[in-house]
Amino acid sequence: MKNNKYNLAVIGGGPTGMIAAGHAGELGSRVILLEKNEHLGVKLLITGKGRCNITNAEEDLKKLINIYGQNGKFLYPALNKFSNKDVVVFFESHGLKTKVERGGRVFPVSDNAKDVVGCLKKYLKDNNVEIRLNSPVEKIIISTENSNDNKIDKIILKNGEEIIAANFLFATGGKSYPGTGSTGDAYKWLKKIGHTVVEPKPALTPVIVKEKIVKKLEGLSLKNVEVSLWKKRKLDSCFGEALFTENGLSGPTVLNLSKKIGENKIKDLKIKINFKPALDYPTLDKRILRDFKEQKNKQFKNSLNKLLPKKLIPVIIKLSGIEENKKVNEVTKIERKKLTKLLKEFELSIKGLVGFEKAIVTSGGVDLKEVYPKTMKSKIIGNLYFAGEVLDIDGPTGGYNLQVAWSTGYLAGEKSNTCRLFT
Ligand SMILES: Cc1cc2nc3c(=O)[nH]c(=O)nc-3n(C[C@H](O)[C@H](O)[C@H](O)COP(=O)(O)OP(=O)(O)OC[C@H]3O[C@@H](n4cnc5c(N)ncnc54)[C@H](O)[C@@H]3O)c2cc1C
Repeated sequence: MKNNKYNLAVIGGGPTGMIAAGHAGELGSRVILLEKNEHLGVKLLITGKGRCNITNAEEDLKKLINIYGQNGKFLYPALNKFSNKDVVVFFESHGLKTKVERGGRVFPVSDNAKDVVGCLKKYLKDNNVEIRLNSPVEKIIISTENSNDNKIDKIILKNGEEIIAANFLFATGGKSYPGTGSTGDAYKWLKKIGHTVVEPKPALTPVIVKEKIVKKLEGLSLKNVEVSLWKKRKLDSCFGEALFTENGLSGPTVLNLSKKIGENKIKDLKIKINFKPALDYPTLDKRILRDFKEQKNKQFKNSLNKLLPKKLIPVIIKLSGIEENKKVNEVTKIERKKLTKLLKEFELSIKGLVGFEKAIVTSGGVDLKEVYPKTMKSKIIGNLYFAGEVLDIDGPTGGYNLQVAWSTGYLAGEKSNTCRLFT
């Protein structure tokens, strides 16, 4: 008969579950990894637009911790155990060459997330982890033998099969991009077993705006712009890339501002894009004047090619209110001033956030007060561990969220190692 007893049962075959299971196996545990999808790492494959931004090369641990906001402190032991540098060493020593790009973003040299998943699959195989695909966990059964000693007895799969283990690790992720399998399954189990779940909210999500004109800009990707968030005064800003979508904005700058948007009442919230952040108002005006002088007989509609991407020009012309067929040498100072303002403060009114369907990450999750940061062990259930996005911790774009997966997963895999219990 098949032995269904394990030292560790890991629920969820994302980056967290894979690194945790592999490391526990490496330490000698008999490990089973349960994944509801047909494949491991479905979300991992689409990270970084299919290139996988594995981590961030930030060298200062304090700065790294601060990036996660208030809950960042929780990560100290996990990052000490398995830092961003260790992640790079781990992948390099398992045959995956890496490179650092702008903003410290670390990617595989191959620019292919498949290679990251491949590397982890080999790690699992080399360490004898039993992998069960198409195996959604449906129920968690708590021991009733001793009411003072809360423990998980076993878990039950959708097909009715029971899995018994000394320890269990929830690596089920959050509830963003549910099509990848992250449907927030653990939240309902957690409430049942006495854990507090901080309300899960979509974070790093595209923004919907009221202005229909963005549809004309759909697909336009801008580099080196400054995007700021306003409610009468400036609340926050971000420099980098932005992308126009069918009904709003996305791209790293906007995704990073989305958390702040979610924390505010949407009414009266505005986004402003500065298309020319390197030029102050007088310098931009001089630049426009120079362009106009060089093409003094051209019509206004044909005069912005050097200054702006093609797709943006008709929109700017329309919003500027300047007659498009006007000769540029007839454009008045006041009209030029309006144009400059438009380029420095392209304003859009926020209608809402896209939500879990397209959120890169979920904020909220298992309340960190109920988890030991040095072990990732539950303070409520004696043989339960947590790691990855299921925890109430999230960061901005730039490789920071996968770093949470690697660090907490590795630590949980190590601390849940009880290879002497079942052999
Ligand atoms: C489009 C996109 C791009 C991203 N790009 C980046 C990036 O470049 N860099 C970065 O740092 N972060 C990125 N992220 C975020 C990053 O992918 C996540 O933070 C990370 O995947 C979380 O890992 P996890 O293993 O904790 O959870 P997940 O990756 O969500 O994995 C959880 C797994 O558990 C499985 N599961 C859930 N419930 C059950 C159940 N009941 N039974 C069995 N299995 C179950 C799911 O099917 C899933 O495979 C991106 C996210 C998205 C959506």
